[in-house]
Amino acid sequence: MIPITLGEIAGITGGTLVNAEPSLSVTGPVEYDSRRIRPGGLFVAFEGEKVDGHAYAGPAVQAGAAAVLSTRDTGQPGVVVAEPLAALAALARALVERLPDLTIVGLTGSSGKTTTKDYLGQLLSRLGPTIAPAGSLNNELGFPYTVLQATEQTRYLVLEMGARGIGHISYLTGIARPRVGLVLNVGAAHLGEFGSVEGTARAKGELVEALPADGVAVLNADDPLVSAMASRTSARVLLTGESPAAAVRATDVTLDEAGRASYRLHFDGKIGNVRLGVAGRHQVANTLAAAGVALALGLGFEDVADALGAVGIASSRRMDVFARPDGVIVIDDSYNANPSSTAAALHALAAMASSRRRVAVLGYMAELGDHERAGHEEVGRLAAELGVDRLVAVAENARPILDGANGVDGWTGEAIFADDQATAIEIVQSDLHAGDVVLVKGSRYRTWDVVDALRPEEV
Ligand code: ATP
Ligand code: MG
Repeated sequence: MIPITLGEIAGITGGTLVNAEPSLSVTGPVEYDSRRIRPGGLFVAFEGEKVDGHAYAGPAVQAGAAAVLSTRDTGQPGVVVAEPLAALAALARALVERLPDLTIVGLTGSSGKTTTKDYLGQLLSRLGPTIAPAGSLNNELGFPYTVLQATEQTRYLVLEMGARGIGHISYLTGIARPRVGLVLNVGAAHLGEFGSVEGTARAKGELVEALPADGVAVLNADDPLVSAMASRTSARVLLTGESPAAAVRATDVTLDEAGRASYRLHFDGKIGNVRLGVAGRHQVANTLAAAGVALALGLGFEDVADALGAVGIASSRRMDVFARPDGVIVIDDSYNANPSSTAAALHALAAMASSRRRVAVLGYMAELGDHERAGHEEVGRLAAELGVDRLVAVAENARPILDGANGVDGWTGEAIFADDQATAIEIVQSDLHAGDVVLVKGSRYRTWDVVDALRPEEV
């Protein structure tokens, strides 16, 4: 954060200054976890369901916080506001206005936002100081929190934007308006809130509507619902993908035995070879999207091609492949799941295990609404079609996965139901052999114990 006085914070947020002079300066970052406070920082006290942050105002100041933002007087120097989230949004907005040299990149999509944000952090760092923090900070708290990390030195700020309903992205772009907007894909994530993929597309398109005329909309040419967003923006459009319509294009895509893609990258008459170090066919789309943004912002073609070969995913549990000493390979893609991302992961499993035994441990996919049963069946069908040898569905509401698989003619794999994660661990471990490739995927924490049990002890 850039230095700001408590008096200014009170003015920006419409709050009341307490226990301090208006000239008191806040220099450090904003934190809502008192354990992460750094000297000079601003501690924000949220009243959660389980924990009331106000109880940590004292410890935060003791740990070096200059002041506290809270909904009641904590006895510490600070500003009292009615709504801490709205106050953070106002602060973030004011900060952006003070940083004219900052270029903001916003990205959204149903799958791959965090992954691509990590790639962008690595690519844009070649152009200048970049903020793209690890993790998935895409909501009304994470978003302003990330914005507030920008300083006068920052040149690029990469912001993940989540849309759980109409108006959500507009709210975020109202806090920090991007000059470059990237839309990755429109899939079946969060269908519960939107009702249809068209509804999802409407909500995600709010990003390109917010771009200025001298901005750039980077759109996926291979997803019709995304490329159609070109008509909703006054910004320049740059298409990325594998279709001939794409300006930043991949051809000759191949996958190695570890599921990593190589392709030829084309842009503006130039051609380069890219060999990715991260697994999954879907990383072609994600890296092309990141390349599109970097090229639009002026990173040279050679640099882009070179940087793509070195990208990694800084955020955990996303296509994290590890080989165990006993020769078993595990794909930890358990961060989150929806039908499209599970399909991508199953394709990666099939590619990596072309001549190996395929084990897929799939958990419940949350937030599918009316599409829940069909979504699980669809994933099960694909698993069987891709020749998964052992398909384990974890917990009752994941059971339709097995129905989907069992409906595929000629599938000879095993469909196994596990009541809970502990049972799934036993099932997997009871029949595991050198060379097997095991994919673990589910919504949020629902399959994390399984993958953690498969992870070799740290040495
Ligand atoms: P969230 O909405 O939870 O923040 P996200 O959009 O940030 O998700 P990631 O965390 O990057 O997405 O990835 C989530 C899952 O989607 C991972 O399992 C990943 O392997 C898969 N995935 C990533 N990119 C794609 C893609 N382009 N198409 C399909 N699946 C993908
Ligand atoms: Mg994310």
